[in-house]
Order: sequence, then C-alpha cells, then structure tokens
Amino acid sequence: MSASGSADFAVVGGGIVGLATARELLARNPGSSLTVLERERGLAAHQTTHSSGVIHAGIYYAPGSLKARLCVEGARDLYGYCQERGIEARRDGKLIVAASRSELDALDELERRGRANGVGELRRVSAGEIREIEPHARGEAALHSPGTGVVDFGRVAAAYADDVRSAGGRIETGAEVTGIRAAGDGLELSLRGSGGSRRSIRAGFALFCAGAWADRLAVMAGAPAEPRIVPFRGGYLRLRPERRDLVRASIYPVPDPALPFLGGHLTRTVGGEVLLGPSALMVAARDAYRLGKVGPGDLRSTLAWPGTWRLIARFWRTGLREVSHAASRRAFAGSLRRYVPELRAADVLPGPAGIRAQALDRDGRLVDDFVVHRTERALHVRNAPSPAATSSLALARLIADRVDEAT
Ligand SMILES: Cc1cc2nc3c(=O)[nH]c(=O)nc-3n(C[C@H](O)[C@H](O)[C@H](O)COP(=O)(O)OP(=O)(O)OC[C@H]3O[C@@H](n4cnc5c(N)ncnc54)[C@H](O)[C@@H]3O)c2cc1C
Repeated sequence: MSASGSADFAVVGGGIVGLATARELLARNPGSSLTVLERERGLAAHQTTHSSGVIHAGIYYAPGSLKARLCVEGARDLYGYCQERGIEARRDGKLIVAASRSELDALDELERRGRANGVGELRRVSAGEIREIEPHARGEAALHSPGTGVVDFGRVAAAYADDVRSAGGRIETGAEVTGIRAAGDGLELSLRGSGGSRRSIRAGFALFCAGAWADRLAVMAGAPAEPRIVPFRGGYLRLRPERRDLVRASIYPVPDPALPFLGGHLTRTVGGEVLLGPSALMVAARDAYRLGKVGPGDLRSTLAWPGTWRLIARFWRTGLREVSHAASRRAFAGSLRRYVPELRAADVLPGPAGIRAQALDRDGRLVDDFVVHRTERALHVRNAPSPAATSSLALARLIADRVDEAT
C-alpha cells in the first residue's frame, strides 16, 4: 500500500458537518494542511441532501443541551452565511399544532423549552389564528415560530466545500477510510478508492464526521462500542402540484416526548414543493434508500446490539404504525389529516427518503443530544441527527474548540 501523502488534519466525511468542521479548522489554523476524505463519488450524498431542509429555531431541545445551544446559534449563523453567499434561505415560519386538548400540556412544555433556549418570536396562537396563518390547518392551539425557515442544505454544503478549497484545503471523493492506526505522533488512515485501489494517508489529527458510519470508525480508532448507530429511514410523500395550496409554510405535530424525532410534518421546501413526512422506520441497511434493502453487516450490527431489543420492547406499537405508513400511502396521508383535514390519499405522490444516523445506547434509549468522543489524536462525532444541519456552523466551532483543547 502506498502512502499518498500527509496532512495536519484529516476530516473523514464530506457531509455538512465534516465540511463545516474543515472550514472552521482552516480558518483557525491558517497555513495548516487539511484533507477531507469522502467515500462517495460526490459530497453530501447522505443525510445532508435527504432532509426536510428546515432551519430549526431551537424549540424542542432540553434546555442546557448541546442541541439547544448549537441550534439557536447555528440557525442565526446560517441565515447570515446564506445571505453573504447568496443562498436562498426563507424564514417562512412554522406552526406546531396541538390537534387535541390532550396535547396542550406537551405544547406548554415546548413553549417553555423554546423560551428557555432563547428562541425569539415564539407565539402561542388560538384555533382561529391557526387558520389565519395556515388556512387549511386545524387544531386546538399552536406555537407559531416565524423564525423557522427553509434552505437547500446541499447548496450550503457545496458553499462550505468552496470555502475549504479557497482556504487551501484538499477534498478527495471516492476515498473511503477502512483502517486507522497510530503512526508516530499522528494517525495513518487506510483508504479504499472507488475502483478498489488501496493507499494510505498520514494525519496529525483526524476528525470523524461519518454520519451513519460514525460508530464503526470510532470503534476502529479504539473508542467504546457505545453508542451504536441504528438507521431510521425517513420516507416522504409529495403533494401533487395542483394541491400545494393546502400548505403555505410548515405544519408540525406535537412530537412524542419519548422519541427524539419531530413527527411527520408538512413542509413547503425552498424549491416550492410540499413534502409530507418523514416516517421513522428502523431499517436493515445504513443506506436503505430503497425500502427493503438489506445490508448484511448493518443488520447484524443492529440485531447484535442489546439496545435494539430493549427499544423494540418499549416502542413496538410505534414501530407497527411506522410499518403501516411505509407500506401504505393512504395510511400515511391519513395520519396527517389530523392537521389538514382536506388532505386525501389522491393528493399525494411518492417522495424521497433519507436515512437518519441515530445513536442508540445499550439500554435501548435513543441518544437525544449531539455526542462527540475523543480518542488518541482524533475526535469522533457519534450522534449528529437533526438539527445538526441547522447547527453545522456552531457545531463546527464546538468541534474546533475541542481540537484546540486536545492539541
Ligand atoms: C429524513 C431526514 C430529515 C432531516 N431533516 C432535517 C432538517 O429539516 N433540519 C436539520 O437541521 N436537520 C435535518 N436532518 C438531519 C441532518 O440531515 C443531519 O443532522 C446532517 O445532515 C448530518 O450531517 P453529517 O455531515 O453528520 O452526515 P452526512 O450528511 O450523512 O455525511 C456523512 C458523510 O460521511 C461519509 N462517510 C461515512 N463513512 C465514511 C468513510 N469510512 N470514509 C469516508 N467517508 C465516509 C458519508 O459518505 C457521508 O457523506 C434530517 C435528516 C434526515 C435523515
């Protein structure tokens, strides 16, 4: 195997988190060498370009958590960045709707969290005001967040990549990290090219931002096996173009507080189409964009993890509902009729899907907050689900602070 070079920093993973991190490291360490290694042929091919595209305001997250702080800061920074770079980011706003009286306590709690997290412009609205904001939506009451917006995170990631190149960083696609070993005062990373070629690169410090594959790389570098990534497929439907007037901006449910997912919602994207979803179905491959795809290694990893069985024991009813939404467009659309009663199965078309890289602990708890682990000469982002795209600039600063502490 030939060593193809060396760099002060290697960033593994060319999604929005890896690219934001690379950009931040180069800004803080001018003159240093940095290489981004991405296994796919293109950048941002996984979660970053398979999301709802929502710039979250920071309402849901436990006060004091990394998600709460980094989402609020990250959203502010992202709007500023998009303006500077000429990327469309629209503050369309969103409603979180309590469809029944039984959800009002949970809505109160979301309002409390939003205020504690410093979300500006959050307003409680009545059933009548819901109809003024979203004429086709219905509910008992709602929270209105005018600062929530939409953007194309793929465009944002591409702009971060341009910043990395302009600051002298290298970006290699088709470069999968397959091995990690200590080498002198750094690390040697083994790489497999798209055609199967083998080589390696030496790095003084490595940042692993590998999304759905984060746990494997962390374990390879000597980190604990916990938490394990379990892939949750988020399938969407699209509204037929002639029915898009059913939704002006974004309509979200009050989420199940026991789960870190925000619940199926209706969102007008920055491109103008309306997405319905995502579902949240545990799947058998970390790239199961096609429903039913099985990755034998991924499936073994999920089934061998004790947390998987504990999670299933607690949430089998929710799991069955998700299976029905994945299997039936009618059932999925029917569940959203609680918020938009005029919605019919005939109004929807099949939509895209994304795979959430969600960490699961040994006891069957879905890890709520962002998690960053340290190993010798490396940091590993082990849980960066939503709102990590919104938070990317602030998360990159946190990671770069930890690099400063570690070196
Ligand atoms: C359905 C869905 C909806 C979402 N909606 C929102 C939303 O509205 N707002 C929001 O803020 N967030 C949302 N998110 C979350 C957001 O998309 C993610 O938090 C964010 O994209 C994570 O970025 P990332 O760079 O960590 O991961 P990714 O974009 O998945 O990037 C990881 C990269 O690492 C690469 N990689 C993996 N292993 C290796 C290896 N061995 N060698 C080299 N490269 C490797 C992968 O190929 C990939 O490109 C959503 C996610 C999903 C799935």
